[in-house]
Amino acid sequence: MSTQDFDVVIIGLGPAGGTLANLLAMNNLSILVLEKEASIYNLPRAVHFDDEVMRVFNTIGITKSLTKKLIINKGTKFVDEKGNLLLDWPRPKVISENGWYPSYRFHQPDLERSLRHKLKKFEKVIISQNSEVYKTISHKNYSIIQYKNLKTKQFFSVKSKYIIGCDGANSFLRKQIKCEMEHLGFEQRWAVIDLILKTKKINLPDRTIQYCNSKRPATYCRNVGKRRRWEIALKEDESVEKFFDSKTLWKFLSQWVSQDEAKIERKTVYTFQSAIAKKWRRGRQFLVGDAAHLTPPFMGQGMCAGIRDASNLAWKISICCKKGHNDRLLDTYQSERSSNVRDYINTAMKMGELLNSIGGSKVSDTVYMEKDGSIKMNSIKPKLGKGLGDLNDKNRGKIFPYLKINFNKEFDDLFSCYPILITNKKVSENKLKIRTYSTIDIPEIETILKKFNSNSLIIRPDRFVLASTDKNDLKDFSRFYLNQIFAL
Ligand SMILES: Cc1cc2nc3c(=O)[nH]c(=O)nc-3n(C[C@H](O)[C@H](O)[C@H](O)COP(=O)(O)OP(=O)(O)OC[C@H]3O[C@@H](n4cnc5c(N)ncnc54)[C@H](O)[C@@H]3O)c2cc1C
Repeated sequence: MSTQDFDVVIIGLGPAGGTLANLLAMNNLSILVLEKEASIYNLPRAVHFDDEVMRVFNTIGITKSLTKKLIINKGTKFVDEKGNLLLDWPRPKVISENGWYPSYRFHQPDLERSLRHKLKKFEKVIISQNSEVYKTISHKNYSIIQYKNLKTKQFFSVKSKYIIGCDGANSFLRKQIKCEMEHLGFEQRWAVIDLILKTKKINLPDRTIQYCNSKRPATYCRNVGKRRRWEIALKEDESVEKFFDSKTLWKFLSQWVSQDEAKIERKTVYTFQSAIAKKWRRGRQFLVGDAAHLTPPFMGQGMCAGIRDASNLAWKISICCKKGHNDRLLDTYQSERSSNVRDYINTAMKMGELLNSIGGSKVSDTVYMEKDGSIKMNSIKPKLGKGLGDLNDKNRGKIFPYLKINFNKEFDDLFSCYPILITNKKVSENKLKIRTYSTIDIPEIETILKKFNSNSLIIRPDRFVLASTDKNDLKDFSRFYLNQIFAL
């Protein structure tokens, strides 16, 4: 056994763990990432992410390599058994407030490779593969993590200020720290079949199609390159072996594609579930990503939620490592994130009902009827739950828009680690104890302040507005909110 100290130990190097490790490393923390598998899982689960998530990837600095391997997603259509359009969820090719297109299709191993490649550049990050965590012990000011190298059979013990479980749906840490799941109701077995086209198949849709059908709901996904996916609900007690029998499967797929036109890359079964952990934190141990919540994938939001968790938690943990532990700040992680992810899960469950042709309620409040009678849906944008800031502040929790400033620099780069204040007032920064940018330094801020109808804003590193004010006394304003973060 060896003992070494870290700021943070992360369990699990999936997309949530990889993103979190990068964000923490940008804050110059020492990090150990323990992953039980020997290498990247080479087949995709997630195939879609959105603009908010792409902005996090941009903060990390992987969008250059990633964009070459992405396609812009055009949206999703829900159709009935006769092919009639029930609901259209378009994702227009327009740059959003996050500075990217609303929706992308990707190949998960490409993303995981980019995240790992970036991590290798940080001297204070150690990635240990073949390393399975089997025990954590919590103390008041630190935790102990015990793990086994599955290859050498050696045992190790390390000490860390914080432990973060990004260890997926069957999270070891969730069980270890005794955090129960609240089950929200949806549970259904689905076959997932990934195909690679052999020819330039002409007749396949270029959007996601949700085939709503009480007997056999199915989803078609137009993935990157020659990859296409079908997700198909299995009947209760239906034999997987029988369904996956080559003849049966190709007969089903022949509605879209023949065996001459495509080869099966993999076929597998998942039980799609909806659940949220009742507690996301015990002392210095946290849950992130699938470890904290599970959603049916009908919105393509499971991994996205994990990336949002990472973005919310990373800067809070970093501040605690540098400026001292702050329970109140860390408590806001679950309170801000859980209601947001719950909205996504509830909407995905409603989509599941539509797919299964059960239940008559609207998928979301963002569903509306066009003049021509067609039913459309806008993407939902759930706000942050209660936490930092004042709920009476109309700007609190809104996304701060992505902004290019002079010489094509990105304004985001100025507040990836600490909150900042932006204002149209003349101020002396050292009096405020927060890095401040005024419209004199950066004229582009003016339009943003107008958009928020406010003279001054405090912005968080995860790109949300913490607080806004029209008052002249910025000293009291900034001190009040900095106190929430740094426990001054
Ligand atoms: C069919 C399907 C389609 C999906 N489509 C989408 C989509 O389009 N968009 C989207 O956003 N989401 C989608 N999802 C959800 C998405 O795949 C998951 O939310 C995401 O992969 C979870 O990431 P994670 O990093 O939290 O966990 P995981 O990817 O599960 O990673 C957990 C890691 O922890 C490691 N680990 C576990 N226990 C230990 C231990 N004790 N010690 C060390 N390491 C450990 C595991 O080996 C693993 O590498 C889909 C899911 C499915 C099943």
